Amino acid sequence: MRNVVIIGSGPAGLTAALYAGRANLQPLLIRGVEAGGQLTLTTLVENFPGFPKGVQGPELIDLMQKQAQEFGAELKEGNVKRVDLSKRPFVLETDGETIETQTLVIATGASAKLLGLESERKLIGHGVSTCATCDGYFFRGKEVAVVGGGDTAAEEALFLTRYASQVHLVHRRDELRASKIMQNRLLGHEKIKPVWNSVVADILDPAKGEVTGIKLQNTKTGEETQKALDGVFIGIGHTPNTSLIRGQLEMNEVGYLITKGGAKTSVPGVFAAGDVQDPVYRQAITAAGSGCMAAMDAERFLEGQEGTG
Ligand code: NAP
Repeated sequence: MRNVVIIGSGPAGLTAALYAGRANLQPLLIRGVEAGGQLTLTTLVENFPGFPKGVQGPELIDLMQKQAQEFGAELKEGNVKRVDLSKRPFVLETDGETIETQTLVIATGASAKLLGLESERKLIGHGVSTCATCDGYFFRGKEVAVVGGGDTAAEEALFLTRYASQVHLVHRRDELRASKIMQNRLLGHEKIKPVWNSVVADILDPAKGEVTGIKLQNTKTGEETQKALDGVFIGIGHTPNTSLIRGQLEMNEVGYLITKGGAKTSVPGVFAAGDVQDPVYRQAITAAGSGCMAAMDAERFLEGQEGTG
């Protein structure tokens, strides 16, 4: 029987593991499918406090892992296949193992939606990004494209105008989905140029290991054109990784977990941290902060149980 099991190994899960470890709870962290989370998809991270010269995303995750292990957290490869939260202890099934735990921290994150192109996969972190706040700074004076027509794309495009010389907003229709206020800001901005009725058919040039341009296809005429530029930001939304617990915990209409009074979910003893419960901030530092909250809430919950049991 475990005191605390954490699912997910991004900054939220690893910070929860560090705090639960230091509280002597011998936490078990199951790393999950996208081990290390979204930070492993990025290069230099310059906005995580404590690293004045920046730190590579995968290195930051590696340091967090070592720090959690230093305090007794056990990290396990693998994926959780099934969770039963209907009674305590909660039961988790991983690849070939059944685990029982008094408390559970869900830190499974959210995955940025991608276009699904082979070139996109090869160039992610090398000119293709899903996070302007993380990577925009590297495109000072450069030309970039943002894909999408919702609030995420609008926010990314507006943020990028601080650095880029020109931002091409590529949208598959001729009408934006973004809120009116964002649309007004976007369409009135001198650096933002909408490219309507268009999809990115390919990103150039994986052979060079950097972005040199995009191939666009007009959704109305089918016509293909090419545009030279230096970066592509995919802003077509995120999907919270909650399919595992659908129907067992309170979620909003698009699947983000709802937390109240800190990191508490709708089931006592189950806590949530990081992007899986945060559609707004989605930063490594906010994820880490909420991981700390989840571990402290789990510790207090266990203390309360001791008192009553
Ligand atoms: P969204 O509203 O679902 O918009 C996604 C956009 O990407 C749509 O314009 C969609 O095109 C396009 N798209 C989706 N799949 C695509 C594909 N495969 N190829 C090309 N284009 C594709 O997602 P979101 O912008 O992330 O927003 C999600 C929610 O969070 C919304 O409720 C939004 O208001 C909220 N949000 C709010 C803020 C804010 O208030 N500051 C910031 C970010 C997000 P179509 O329009 O043709 O479907």
